[in-house]
Amino acid sequence: CGIVGYIGYRDAYPILIKGLQRLEYRGYDSAGVALFDGTNINLAKTKGKVEDLNKKAETDISLKGTLGIGHTRWATHGVPNDINSHPHYSNSGNLVIIHNGIIENYESIKKELLKRGYTFHSETDTEVLVNLIEEVQKTEDVKLGKAVQIALNQVVGAYAIAVFDLKKPDEIVVAKLGSPLAIGVGDKEFFIASDASPFIEFTNNAVYLEDEEMAIVRLGKEIKLRKIKDDAIA
Ligand code: GLU
Repeated sequence: CGIVGYIGYRDAYPILIKGLQRLEYRGYDSAGVALFDGTNINLAKTKGKVEDLNKKAETDISLKGTLGIGHTRWATHGVPNDINSHPHYSNSGNLVIIHNGIIENYESIKKELLKRGYTFHSETDTEVLVNLIEEVQKTEDVKLGKAVQIALNQVVGAYAIAVFDLKKPDEIVVAKLGSPLAIGVGDKEFFIASDASPFIEFTNNAVYLEDEEMAIVRLGKEIKLRKIKDDAIA
């Protein structure tokens, strides 16, 4: 289980694939990537190895994009298969998430979201989380960072997550509790990963999130670090 992300000016895809390969030692059963090409999110995911993902992505999707996230999954909720692999979309198709860890109370949250008309394509706890974030975004009319924070305050479990919004493709929001998460700070670019190995050749400026900490990683800005339980976030 590992996560990678990139936002900047380079092609994200090779960075994500190489990064996932460097995180293979952590163990996994499936892998996936999502890239934003300027208009659409291109998503490829598969049960199996990062190399299988690489083949599938090269034939199935546009590999263009300077914003992307990638994941190796160690299944906890839902069998290892293509559908349960990450990334996962929210119902609107605007939000896309990767997650390492477990959302322990996902069943009660899912029940509530089902009542509000949400549908689910996978058996994962992760797809529940991304839709909870979407529901918060809608009902509270807040930005992605705030929506992630509010959603995580309703969650019991462990996580390293990275999420972005098709409608606001200049930022990735990340958060951590239990699972590791590092941000590599470059010049006009940021890297996200479970450890520094995916971005070591690009920058030696790494920020390691603490438990219950989140960050809004926005192009052209300093990283905004926030406590998940702090309600001062704007
Ligand atoms: N609980 C999530 C799932 O089963 C994430 C597992 C992981 O850490 O890779 O899909």
